[in-house]
Amino acid sequence: MAKQCVKCGYVRQPTDTAPDYECPKCGVIYAKVSAPLGETPIKRATKVGLKQCPNCAEDVKAAATLCPHCKQPIFSTNPQINSISHLLSLAVLFFAFYAFFKWWIFQ
Ligand SMILES: [Zn+2]
Ligand SMILES: [Zn+2]
Repeated sequence: MAKQCVKCGYVRQPTDTAPDYECPKCGVIYAKVSAPLGETPIKRATKVGLKQCPNCAEDVKAAATLCPHCKQPIFSTNPQINSISHLLSLAVLFFAFYAFFKWWIFQ
């Protein structure tokens, strides 16, 4: 995809000799003008909270468990970690209850 200058609207050509980060026509640094005016930061902002579907590589919501594009369930590492910590907390709760029960019986 060709780079377009935000300031002068010049679309970068492959024959241009100016550095990759600089507009060959007006000499502006792309990063400087595109930061407040360009669409890229806005697009990036909306990408926050998204993850990539492992099945079809489309962007889906981070909390999604089912991909809206390919209708495949998404298994990320997070639910696994959650279930492990859930099991751990259950075990802790069980032992706490067990200890209390033992203390209550033998007091
Ligand atoms: Zn320009
Ligand atoms: Zn998908």
